[in-house]
Amino acid sequence: MEKLYCTECGAENEPGSTFCSKCGKPFNSNDVNEEKEISRTVEVIVGILGGIFGLLGGIFAVLFGIFASEVAGLGASAILASIVGIAGAAYVLKNPKWGGIILIISAVWLLISISLFGIPGAVLLGLAGLLALLRK
Ligand SMILES: [Zn+2]
Repeated sequence: MEKLYCTECGAENEPGSTFCSKCGKPFNSNDVNEEKEISRTVEVIVGILGGIFGLLGGIFAVLFGIFASEVAGLGASAILASIVGIAGAAYVLKNPKWGGIILIISAVWLLISISLFGIPGAVLLGLAGLLALLRK
């Protein structure tokens, strides 16, 4: 049987040990941690999709703004909100809580900016944000 090497302090331990003889670290704790890790793929994909819809809505509003100038500025704001939303989706991988908050802020911001054009993107961004916050 192979010797066990502690992942915490590097000490050599007898095979079959459950605790490190030097620092006391339980050897099966790594497996427990791996099981607790959950995938954030859904939040990231839904969030990025929401950002893309938001960008499209923003671009549409800017183009629409050629005919009605007050809409163009709101379209630019929507594009910025969408970029923040995509950044929030990526940040979910590092920190689900703050990533989720950024996603929800971008969803509300998008909705305020371009209302009707922003609904598909805002719904997806908000959904991704809620998943990031609520899924444990
Ligand atoms: Zn150790």
